[in-house]
Amino acid sequence: MSDINPSQNAHEATSATPAALPRFDDFGLAPPILKALADQGYQHPTPIQAKAIPIVLQGRDVMGAAQTGTGKTAGFSLPIIQMLLAHANTSASPARHPVRALVLTPTRELADQVADNVKAYSRHTPLRATVVFGGVDMAPQTAALRAGVEILIATPGRLLDHVQQKTLNLSQTQIFVMDEADRMLDMGFLPDLQRIINLLPKQRQNLMFSATFSPEIKKLAGSFLKDPVLIEVARSNATAERVTQIVYKVDEEAKRDAVVHLLRQREIKQVIVFSNTKIGASRLSRELERQGIRASAIHGDKTQIERMAALDAFKTGGLDVLVATDVAARGLDIAELPCVINYDLPYNAEDYVHRIGRTGRAGASGDALSLYSDKDARLLADIEKLIKQKLAPVPLEDFQPRGLRSGGDRGDRGDRGDRSDRYGDRGDRRPSERAPRSAPLPRREKVDPWFLKPYEPSAPVEPKAEQPADQRSAKPVQKRAALLGGGPKG
Ligand code: AMP
Repeated sequence: MSDINPSQNAHEATSATPAALPRFDDFGLAPPILKALADQGYQHPTPIQAKAIPIVLQGRDVMGAAQTGTGKTAGFSLPIIQMLLAHANTSASPARHPVRALVLTPTRELADQVADNVKAYSRHTPLRATVVFGGVDMAPQTAALRAGVEILIATPGRLLDHVQQKTLNLSQTQIFVMDEADRMLDMGFLPDLQRIINLLPKQRQNLMFSATFSPEIKKLAGSFLKDPVLIEVARSNATAERVTQIVYKVDEEAKRDAVVHLLRQREIKQVIVFSNTKIGASRLSRELERQGIRASAIHGDKTQIERMAALDAFKTGGLDVLVATDVAARGLDIAELPCVINYDLPYNAEDYVHRIGRTGRAGASGDALSLYSDKDARLLADIEKLIKQKLAPVPLEDFQPRGLRSGGDRGDRGDRGDRSDRYGDRGDRRPSERAPRSAPLPRREKVDPWFLKPYEPSAPVEPKAEQPADQRSAKPVQKRAALLGGGPKG
């Protein structure tokens, strides 16, 4: 599917006609790859692809400043496939299919999506790609690894489990990709990353992608990248101009009703609602379901199978609302999401940028609606400071909460059981009774200038509230500062 507009190409858009847009066959990519791109409906490379593909093909290390949604996955995987074609073979012998490229991602969902992309781009070649992540049975992964695979996509914890079980040998890895490196550090993966880097051959090509470049990220980059080329396509700490941001002032106790109201008033389909807590996400999702809204929650306490099922249902239109924590939502490849809702304002202002970037993705535009109560003043101030923009809270039109929750249920912090009677008569409303949308939003335009802007470095990121889904609970997260700089040189 083609969801990136070719005119988003940063370096051509200002001075050249569309005829001058770069083309995939300018890069010397082999016919099976070009065929796969045509199957996908991609017509032109995105800015990150136009910059990264030739450099990666030269064998250079890369430090890429790009968020998910810019097309960075193809930016690194197309040249990797091209370079590995020299080794492609149809032999049944596992020894003829060693792991030659390793892609690490912080979350299971992102790993799965990157693997889907790599499989799609390499489908007309004999190269094999597989994905391993935690939370699911190891046996099928072990079987795939034993059969031999050239491109392995993995989350760090499960990768090390396979190494420990001796089902995986990384001694022939020529190319190492670290995707969403900032999130890897946020999630406490640094010790695992360093163990993995130690298992790789010293002679290899390294590609690192990160949405933000804190001093910690730069230090990590310095520890394993060799003379990297810096590729930047979009500033990270800027909100997309084409994302309409509205902050609604509501009572804390009325936030769940407010979400229902927004969904109905605006007839929103395909929305991610962000919650700061796993319990909050579950409760909101249950409440939405009770109100007849097709919703599901994804967060770190859900099994991998549940998370994948929810994501699949959302992508295929079986669900209208995905309620997610930041960690679970990170890297989800859902194209052209028209709206995100912040049920909670995030504790970390950078997460606001990541969240609303879900809707301004791939150069498209969208609406970012946030619920704000008096206790959120600090959080809103932090966001305004980061995005250098005022977000004055406004009342939520036509909103009348159906009575506040009794018994001191303060949003997600209480631990009360769910009782359908506690919502009075709200359960009898059905989606078909939606009020007409009272405040039409501005017409969307195809190309978002944010997508074309140069990267601007961000402030350091604070640790996140939720631990990585993949992180084994028994293992303490080591302090970043102590580990950074102690890592081996590539
Ligand atoms: P990514 O940033 O790699 O997660 O990609 C974001 C989305 O853009 C994915 O849905 C890709 O399938 C899509 N995409 C990547 N490259 C292109 C392209 N050159 N043209 C159109 N869509 C693309």
